[in-house]
Amino acid sequence: MTDSKYVYLDYNATTPMDPRVIEVIQKHFKQTYGNASSLHTVGKRAHQILEESRETIASFINADKDDIFFTSSGTEADNLAIKGVAFKCKDRGNHIITSSIEHHAVENPCKELEKFGYKVTFLHVDKYGLIDLNELENAITDKTILITIMFANNEIGTIEPIKEIGAIARKHDVIFHTDAVQAIGKVPIDVKEMNIDMLSSSAHKLYGPKGIGMLYIRNKGKREGWGKYIEPLMHGGEHERKMRPSTEAVPLIAGYAKAIELCKEDMTKEMERQIKLRDKIIKAVTENIEDSYLHGHPTQRLPNNVNLGFKYIEGESILLSLDMEGIAASTGSACSSVSLEASHVLLAIGLRPEEAHGSLRISFGRFTTEEEVDYFLEKLPPIIERLRKMSPLKKGVKYMFDESSESGHHH
Ligand SMILES: *Cc1c(COP(=O)(O)O)cnc(C)c1O
Repeated sequence: MTDSKYVYLDYNATTPMDPRVIEVIQKHFKQTYGNASSLHTVGKRAHQILEESRETIASFINADKDDIFFTSSGTEADNLAIKGVAFKCKDRGNHIITSSIEHHAVENPCKELEKFGYKVTFLHVDKYGLIDLNELENAITDKTILITIMFANNEIGTIEPIKEIGAIARKHDVIFHTDAVQAIGKVPIDVKEMNIDMLSSSAHKLYGPKGIGMLYIRNKGKREGWGKYIEPLMHGGEHERKMRPSTEAVPLIAGYAKAIELCKEDMTKEMERQIKLRDKIIKAVTENIEDSYLHGHPTQRLPNNVNLGFKYIEGESILLSLDMEGIAASTGSACSSVSLEASHVLLAIGLRPEEAHGSLRISFGRFTTEEEVDYFLEKLPPIIERLRKMSPLKKGVKYMFDESSESGHHH
């Protein structure tokens, strides 16, 4: 796929585009230049591609075509869902329920709303990252207007009990939104069967282009049901039935639909293949490297994600050493990113900040081969060993975050 000497294991950050998607996008950038709102032939042609793409994407999650609203990204879809409901429903209530492990695209809009008088409950998660359904139900009040809980976590891979959350929301007449950016194309999703009212997706997490996403809003197309409980964030033209004005990016949307089509074709096969790779990594690392741990749920997790903890060393150092071997991964150690904080997800599952800084996220996908996984498994142990030798936190030395000489891990 990419440079053959480079092993890309960071698919949860973004996926490489499938060449078949690139082909479709290139074709449409050349041919389908019309504005989908224009009445002439090239405009009508663009409109047709737009609506066919909408249908392909809708049917993949068993949604009605007119309930799909294209946005510029997953982040925008999350903001539209959360703020759109909050603004429209402020007379009905001001309470939102979410989890403590959401992506920033959900967490930060919720926090922003707190500045405007909204109350947000951040549900706890257990050591696997699962919310507690009783805590959810008990948190609902007559002021609750929205429950927003992610389908699958981007860092630790844990899959939440979506259908059950949806059932509780229905029972209490509360809108249920789920950020499914990491789940779509990896595990089966049926918005009707799973009681989902709103769902966010982003093309670049499923081999499509960056800069295009969508929000599903149940019954919005019919102008009834939950649809009347959300309003647009932007005001402009009549695009996307006034929910999201601005000229539709038809070539990107066509690429998004192509990417979804390809996921539909190979999802069952890829799930099986990737689960094997995932479990191979988990077994090889936790059995062969001392003081290493799996973060997240052992089985109720994304097929393509492994999150590992290594005592005594920093994820950032592991990352840089892997990069020198031509391997790309990710870490919950935010030392490597702009902020100095440990990942809020790893803290929420009960890790201490020092432990969270020793985490390594491996995420892979369609183009990852078993040889690449084996290459990673060959390169990792000596890296861990070398870093531990240099570590001031290594065994036998009294270090800041482990008071007990047993070095007992809480898991
Ligand atoms: C990547 C991601 C997003 C953001 O999607 P963008 O299209 O990059 O804005 C939101 N939620 C989750 C869970 C993600 O993994």
